[in-house]
Amino acid sequence: MKRSWVEVNLKQIAQNYNIYRQAIAKEAEIMAVVKANAYGHGDVQVSSLLSGLGVKNFAVSNLDEAIRLRKNDIKGQILVLGYTPVELAHEIYKFDITQALLSREYAEKLSLQRYKVKTQFAIDTGMNRIGLNADNPQKCADIIHRYAKIFDMTGIFTHLCVADTPSQNEFTQMQKQKFDEVVQKTKDVDLKFIHCMNSAGGIWQESYGNLVRLGIILYGLKPDYLNILPDGIRPAMKWKSVISMIKDVKEGETIGYGRTYLVKKPLKVATISTGYADGYNRLLSNRGYVFIDKKRAPIVGRICMDQFMIDVTDIATVEIGDEVDLLTDSFTADDMGKILDTIGYEVVCNISSRVERVYIKEETE
Ligand SMILES: *Cc1c(COP(=O)(O)O)cnc(C)c1O
Repeated sequence: MKRSWVEVNLKQIAQNYNIYRQAIAKEAEIMAVVKANAYGHGDVQVSSLLSGLGVKNFAVSNLDEAIRLRKNDIKGQILVLGYTPVELAHEIYKFDITQALLSREYAEKLSLQRYKVKTQFAIDTGMNRIGLNADNPQKCADIIHRYAKIFDMTGIFTHLCVADTPSQNEFTQMQKQKFDEVVQKTKDVDLKFIHCMNSAGGIWQESYGNLVRLGIILYGLKPDYLNILPDGIRPAMKWKSVISMIKDVKEGETIGYGRTYLVKKPLKVATISTGYADGYNRLLSNRGYVFIDKKRAPIVGRICMDQFMIDVTDIATVEIGDEVDLLTDSFTADDMGKILDTIGYEVVCNISSRVERVYIKEETE
């Protein structure tokens, strides 16, 4: 019996991938975004699965993540989307990793390390995060031409910041337009990968480029809460824990740290063996709920580091050791994110490493 664990359904991830593959432009390759331990799902397991399905491109956030994939025998392109200290150029080179170039200054510093590493230049088309400012496409093109001679430059990319929001389509069109101007001015450079689509862009925006960076939808979650995903794409993760104790609590007593929950009528209270150190957000205190046999049980009092309490008064049969569903098909990370005023991405990324990942290879129902 486990304490707090997530079940990752690999078959569901494969299904999500296949459905998404059908929904996007035929000419586009998929780059699986497996940063942050594949959004909490397990980067090596997810990447191995996708390699088996023919995926040849992977994206991560940093060099450690990239090297872990290589050491676990993941082949193909591994693109680091974020910052790597330039002093680690020898590692980028040794493990055949592709490094994003974040700015002209970054490219210059990296070039001084004198490794002909694989790179892709980031282009900023309006997000103001990383990349060459596409407001001056000629300047971008000049910089790309210069560093294409120094590095093994395999592509350029930009990032869409509202591809999941139909009311902002004009901004997305403008971003693609700006990116295209840079692409047109670098046609003479042999750049294999031209890409701008994230999960949302790939299915809800007109195709551009030859690669889609598929992140959140691979895991069956939504870029935005209002989005409707294609049929058959469903969350691949369930989070479970167990009841460690059950007790009756009298009217007038309080529950948990800070005494934030006042008991107004006699309650049956169960303690759950998961807490904020497991990534179960403390802001769920007195706000969230869990499910026991599909019956909803509200959280009472504050989430502790390793435990929290729920009201099970209305649930007839509960026993110590019973399984409790923290995230299910019908209460997804997106739903929990909604309660927390955040997004499903953050919920799954925050599930900490002490929560065991259990891999399910067959359909569970
Ligand atoms: C994380 C990330 C993605 C994936 O975005 P999703 O919305 O999860 O599909 C794509 N591109 C870049 C640059 C990213 O940082």
